Amino acid sequence: MQGKTFTVTQPTRIHFGVDSINDLAAQVRGLGGTTVFLVVDPGVVAAGLLPRITAPLEAASVPYTVYDKIDPEPGLKLADNGVKLAKKAKCDCVVGVGGGSAMDVAKAVAILLTNGGKAVDYIGLGKIGKPGVPKIMVPTTAGTGAEVTFTAVFINEKTSSKAGMNGDPLYPDAAVLDPALTLSVPSHITAATGIDALTHALEAYVSTQAHPISDMYALEAIDLIAANLGKAYANGDNLEARSAMMMGSLLAGKALATAGVGLVHAMAYPLGGMHQIPHGLANAVLLPYVMAYNLIGAPERFATLAEMFGVDTSAMSLREAGEAAVEAVYRLNDDVGIPKTLADLQIPREDIPEMARIALTVSRPVANNPRKPTLEEVMSIYEEAMHGWE
Ligand code: NAD
Repeated sequence: MQGKTFTVTQPTRIHFGVDSINDLAAQVRGLGGTTVFLVVDPGVVAAGLLPRITAPLEAASVPYTVYDKIDPEPGLKLADNGVKLAKKAKCDCVVGVGGGSAMDVAKAVAILLTNGGKAVDYIGLGKIGKPGVPKIMVPTTAGTGAEVTFTAVFINEKTSSKAGMNGDPLYPDAAVLDPALTLSVPSHITAATGIDALTHALEAYVSTQAHPISDMYALEAIDLIAANLGKAYANGDNLEARSAMMMGSLLAGKALATAGVGLVHAMAYPLGGMHQIPHGLANAVLLPYVMAYNLIGAPERFATLAEMFGVDTSAMSLREAGEAAVEAVYRLNDDVGIPKTLADLQIPREDIPEMARIALTVSRPVANNPRKPTLEEVMSIYEEAMHGWE
């Protein structure tokens, strides 16, 4: 806290609850929208969920155009293509339904409709001048928290690198979180997206930018995820666990939007850009290894994390308690079937120097990290993650 200046921006109206999707038309109208551009994840369509989204719009006579050509880990051209369709259909409101991939495309389309230009023009921080058209996000994975963040992440097809647009205009105007929409998420995606949410909360909690408000979000998120990810993975029909996970990922998104993320994210970026490893999975595999490296930078915080995972730390030194936190996360990863090593993800060892170089260019997460990494240290974390601990 000492000498820290921070800003908390929370413009997103949150509408949460089972069947809250039935109120989608009221949310659209409440923001002045008349014609909706509906960006939908194809996995959501395949799971038979599209009528759950369109029925409330039809019942209220709100016209809509569906855009469902969304790839996981989207490229910039998906946003540019979406804008053309949205303009043609004269849409004045964007609704994004899906995981982070569909929501990020939707957020970018809303911004491009008013700001013009191409998606690539807005990569970076603070490049977006005007607010977008009203945008409403409907997450269908419990993972990214993109429904409450000021970021949209893309793969730049020209450079094969992942990069984000960042700026307050990207905050969605509203988020409709209906846990019932996550019941169809397959178990391996439940696992990877759930550990992704945990990574957001953990990295925000140990971030150099952490403050009492981000801590509040992060700790509540960790509590919910630690208690419920196993249950949601073990039985995808457990609506109570799904609801807790959706609240956990929302709060983790708020934690990341207010305190930032750290080295796990920086090191995950090249795994996505160079090797097409999904964001959540890349974070999940790296998380325990980066935690172990970070321990000495924030020992008290890591000891608190152990307690959040139910470890009795009363007879432990700070160091032992921090190590117990790493162990608890490693075990949770194992419980939910996350691969243990980068070798399991078929990452070639010879790519480590280039991945480490790229990771250190992801400047904000690197700056937020509780331990300042050198190139050699990042290479040795990748090396450790390549072989694992067993
Ligand atoms: P995703 O959106 O790619 O979805 C993962 C898979 O789940 C897809 O195959 C999708 O079709 C399927 N799916 C989604 N909902 C489903 C449902 N209800 N039933 C069945 N299948 C379903 O994955 P994600 O982890 O949610 O998002 C990843 C993207 O989000 C990455 O590009 C990442 O960089 C980005 N991201 C953005 C932010 C942000 O703040 N904007 C934060 C973190 C990550």
